[in-house]
Amino acid sequence: NPFAGARFLLSCAQLSQLPDDDRPELVFAGRSNAGKSSALNRLCGQQALARVSKTPGRTQLINLFEVPLGRLADIPGYGFAKVARDLRESWGALIGRYLETRANVCGIVQIMDVRHPLMPQDRQLLEWAAARALPCHVVLTKADKLGYGAAKNAMLAVQRSLAQVPGLSVQLFSAQAPSGVEALRERASVLLSQ
Ligand code: GDP
Repeated sequence: NPFAGARFLLSCAQLSQLPDDDRPELVFAGRSNAGKSSALNRLCGQQALARVSKTPGRTQLINLFEVPLGRLADIPGYGFAKVARDLRESWGALIGRYLETRANVCGIVQIMDVRHPLMPQDRQLLEWAAARALPCHVVLTKADKLGYGAAKNAMLAVQRSLAQVPGLSVQLFSAQAPSGVEALRERASVLLSQ
């Protein structure tokens, strides 16, 4: 597993705090509670790697993890209705600028609950990625919550809906089963390497 040695690097609230080099950064995005931390932990085979991203005070930050192929950037979950408006706006400003201007970003892994895919903010992020021609890998997680046929149908519906987006791939995943972990490792490795 090329992600086994992942280790936390830093949390940053300002783009100026990001490392000044040319290592690729693969962004992990998703709605709050979609299962992003669980997917990151499975990817890296570590129980509590992404716990850092849930530490109070770090939830609104970009958290970077060092891996041999580059870095994983865990960006805060969106769609958090309870967060005050000014926090939401600073989130949008930080993440928007990060995704629009950070040259290191090499691709996006978008985590969605297979039962609630393609919510408005998911689509907004996909549009951001498309505007920069960034390859995007959609991970439909919690597949264990659906039967095999229903999960497969959900994936086909997402694929159909996004068929026009170049450089996009979709997979089923479950952190609980677990399933789809190897497929995620393969795709994440490719995105970091190209
Ligand atoms: P995050 O907010 O996107 O980082 O989501 P978490 O990884 O913290 O997961 C949110 C909730 O969903 C937790 O209660 C997890 O245990 C649960 N969860 C995450 N992934 C899966 C999965 O693949 N299957 C099931 N059944 N539950 C999951």
